[in-house]
Amino acid sequence: DYTPPPYSGPSAKEILSKRLQFLSPAVFHFFKNPLNLVDGKMQYLFDEKGRRYLDAFGGIATVCCGHCHPHVVDAIVNQTKRLQHSTILYLNPAIAEFAEALAAKFPGDLKVVFFTNSGTEANELALLMARLYTGCHDVISIRNGYHGNAAGTMGATAQSSYKFNVVQTGVHHAQNPDQYRGVFGSDGLKYARDVDDIITYGTSGHVAAFIAEAIQGVGGIMELAPGYLPAVYSSIRKAGGLCIADEVQSGFARTGSHFWGFEAHGVVPDIVTMAKGIGNGIPLGAVVTTPEIAKVLAYRSYFNTFGGNPVSTAAGLAVLQVLEKENLQQNAMTVGSYLKERLTSLKDKYEIIGDVRGRGLMLGVELVKDRQLKTPAKVETLHIMDQMKEMGILIGKGGFFGNVFRITPPLCFTKDDADFLVDVMDY
Ligand code: PLP
Repeated sequence: DYTPPPYSGPSAKEILSKRLQFLSPAVFHFFKNPLNLVDGKMQYLFDEKGRRYLDAFGGIATVCCGHCHPHVVDAIVNQTKRLQHSTILYLNPAIAEFAEALAAKFPGDLKVVFFTNSGTEANELALLMARLYTGCHDVISIRNGYHGNAAGTMGATAQSSYKFNVVQTGVHHAQNPDQYRGVFGSDGLKYARDVDDIITYGTSGHVAAFIAEAIQGVGGIMELAPGYLPAVYSSIRKAGGLCIADEVQSGFARTGSHFWGFEAHGVVPDIVTMAKGIGNGIPLGAVVTTPEIAKVLAYRSYFNTFGGNPVSTAAGLAVLQVLEKENLQQNAMTVGSYLKERLTSLKDKYEIIGDVRGRGLMLGVELVKDRQLKTPAKVETLHIMDQMKEMGILIGKGGFFGNVFRITPPLCFTKDDADFLVDVMDY
């Protein structure tokens, strides 16, 4: 029953013509009928005409507490009134309070926190630390993974549509333990052998790191086959490398069963990277590691101007408080399981649904033209997305072929929201 304040700013078309920004083909589709969003309230977004949309994408798996959650807004406003910026050259209480609360979310020795401005930057730092710590250069990531768009992380990213023809050295891409299309089905140990082969045939036998998402997000909500991660962690450690968990999408309670995605695999990484949900949309990223690994940066000038900004870290602390107070991990599990069940039941009705997967409120629906051949239904995916937008639901898409709906809403999503989403899909 929230009514947004009246809007008198420029229209969607005016903004698009003023915004002389290069539009990548990857996002071009969104600008065919551009949506000018001017307000947000929990799981809802409002356009310039006050029209309400259920946000099933969460700003790309980012808005975990809900749009403009009052507690997060208060934390940001209060901090902004006192101090907006000082750099990490000086102390400020916000950074310390958040770092302490964040470190408490990790097992074992994962107690040192570095703040960055994005997921890309967090992964760049993780790769740098692993290379310095091991003295090796070779990194292994998984095909179809996404880890960022700067020099090092673009190397780790393994989808051609996100890669450019620039030098990206030292990264090997292992077979994707993809349970839908992969040749070994759900046998994680068989996929893990490809990592052993890369170590044996593609490196000196020593590697710097392995980096993976617990559930691939951009890649189309792909869950790693069971048994894969523990086997790979063991091989990497034997080869002297560090294991990096990219929790940029799967962290902060999104997967419901655990606070961090890696926990579902029974492994403990050496370095964890995060962004997106960490600030509920305020730009912030972080790397968490052990004191021993963190030492590689001692006596070197690793520095960024905005990392650990007091407003961002105040938002981060508020996010942790909201997640706990409102029991949003449990909600992600309960509502996510219910939604997954309802989406799965649509499979019986619609041949175009090839696969429904994911955990908690990180769900994917893959559309195919032919269930046997698994031919990607790319155009149909865009078409249905547009229709859903017309009917008041914003949903994401991903996967290498762009034929997977990505459902990553704010974690305050309700069963009624889930019903509305499925009913619209079923329309
Ligand atoms: N890692 C993963 C798993 C991501 O999904 C993304 C972004 O989508 C990144 C890293 C890069 O984060 P950012 O866009 O904040 O640089």
